[in-house]
Amino acid sequence: MSRSSRSALIDAWVRPEVRALSAYHVPPPADVIKLDAMENPWPWPGELVEAWQAALSEVPLNRYPDAGAGELKARLRAAMGIPEGAALMLGNGSDELILLINLLVAGPGRVVLTPGPGFAMYRIIAVNSGLGYREVPLAEDFELDETAMRAALREVQPAVVYIAYPNNPTGNAFNRDALARVIHEAPGLVVVDEAYYAFANDSFLPDVLAYPNLLVMRTVSKVGLAGLRLGLVAGHPDWLEELEKLRLPYNISALTQASANFALDHREQLERSVAAIVAERGRLAEGLAAIPGVERVWPSEANFLTFRGPAGAAGRVHSGLREHGVLIKNLDGSHPQLADCLRVTVGRPEENARFLAALGQVLSG
Ligand code: PMP
Repeated sequence: MSRSSRSALIDAWVRPEVRALSAYHVPPPADVIKLDAMENPWPWPGELVEAWQAALSEVPLNRYPDAGAGELKARLRAAMGIPEGAALMLGNGSDELILLINLLVAGPGRVVLTPGPGFAMYRIIAVNSGLGYREVPLAEDFELDETAMRAALREVQPAVVYIAYPNNPTGNAFNRDALARVIHEAPGLVVVDEAYYAFANDSFLPDVLAYPNLLVMRTVSKVGLAGLRLGLVAGHPDWLEELEKLRLPYNISALTQASANFALDHREQLERSVAAIVAERGRLAEGLAAIPGVERVWPSEANFLTFRGPAGAAGRVHSGLREHGVLIKNLDGSHPQLADCLRVTVGRPEENARFLAALGQVLSG
């Protein structure tokens, strides 16, 4: 088949909004200090790795996994403190859960609404699932603009509202009372996305049943298990019963289930590293603020810090750091409110020190 007839077919059949998208780009892994993706920087110690491998060798790969992931769900309930009476569903990362929640409500004229700057996948997955997308700008200090949010809720009547709490890429957790009023006023579902719960001081999970329209989503990615791809959503059983209809059978592989069960049996390992990340976050914020040229460092309740460099310098800072073997995320250009901003994930102490030294050199050069 010729190239032109193939592209004519693609033009004819692929949805125009998908044609207009760019695939989510992730740079290939390289030999760098990797501080771009909110991963936990501590690998497991050798003896734990050996015990995990022994546990995996018991998994029968000729059989399908436990379709309901019953054992894992029970462990997650206990570990995360899922309130009694709430139901739980697991996904291949919280990204998959966002897709399933969207498919639950998708239809002509249906819209996803979210404050922005926010998590980039909310827009991409909204488009993927045939939903409209509306973003309400945050206030200048990256706090929720409650008046604007509530006006948009009334005007847009969104089918679902996503609010990351704490927010990515700004790092802050929005004012709880304002968020509660937004949940109350929303005409449809509200998903409070607690991807960064482990580094934060507050959660809506204990109150998930207190609102008729609330789901709370979490992931194990940021606490040290990004490679597993495991997210969860908690909510009233009536909502989850509908959502379960969209979940593909066996979406959580046997290896993921066994690995997550093992990790939850050794939670103290993850908990220690989370505490270390929180302590390091404070030191990293101080170090950043002390570097000439760093104009602003936003307070963070997550495992990353967002900061503003000199006007027009973000690209140079990003590539200069790359030359020093440090990879962070350049946020400049991704959103009008993020001009000259970059985001660094909290790494191990020696990695943070390398990053700070490199940044100091790049900014003084
Ligand atoms: N929600 C937020 C707010 C995030 O920042 C991320 C990851 N960057 C996710 C969800 C996705 O998490 P997962 O790895 O579970 O798909």
